[in-house]
Amino acid sequence: MRLLLHTCCGPCLAGCLRGLEGEVPAPLLFWYNPNIHPWTEYRSRRDCLEAFAKEKKLELLKADEYGLRGFLRGLENDYESGDRRCGYCYRLRLERTAETARDLGCDCFSTTLLTSPYQRHWEIKKTGEELAARFGVAFFYRDLRPFFQAGRQSARQGGLYMQKYCGCVFSEEERYAP
Ligand code: SF4
Repeated sequence: MRLLLHTCCGPCLAGCLRGLEGEVPAPLLFWYNPNIHPWTEYRSRRDCLEAFAKEKKLELLKADEYGLRGFLRGLENDYESGDRRCGYCYRLRLERTAETARDLGCDCFSTTLLTSPYQRHWEIKKTGEELAARFGVAFFYRDLRPFFQAGRQSARQGGLYMQKYCGCVFSEEERYAP
């Protein structure tokens, strides 16, 4: 089974790999995260993932597009609503993943976002299933949240870059603004 795994960052991948161990052969990793800002943060997460994938001997495909402007345009000035913003963000990334999985002839696609307890888990699942029907490639769903903490721990021990906020400039503000 060939799984194209959308990968948001090294620490989430660490948790995800634990959860998929024994069930899925080595996934093909896919970096497409135009929601990560600013540029230096984008670079830190991307470079960390590159090094981690190399260490794990996993193939990594990159759509290496820093997407601040396109991301903001896509939001059409509706920045404040978390519902709208995160829904758009999931769809953007999963749509490209599903399309790429179809083009590469993969059996299924999934995302490391399923390991995070901070994301809207059921919305990710629903979006993945909708896109599976649209692109004709199965969405591989597992609730990987129980593996999140173990993934963080091993990422910390392995010296991976640990991000402090979700990704977009708005989540950075929510994290740091008084
Ligand atoms: S908070 Fe996270 S999931 Fe929501 S829009 Fe920002 S980067 Fe995307």
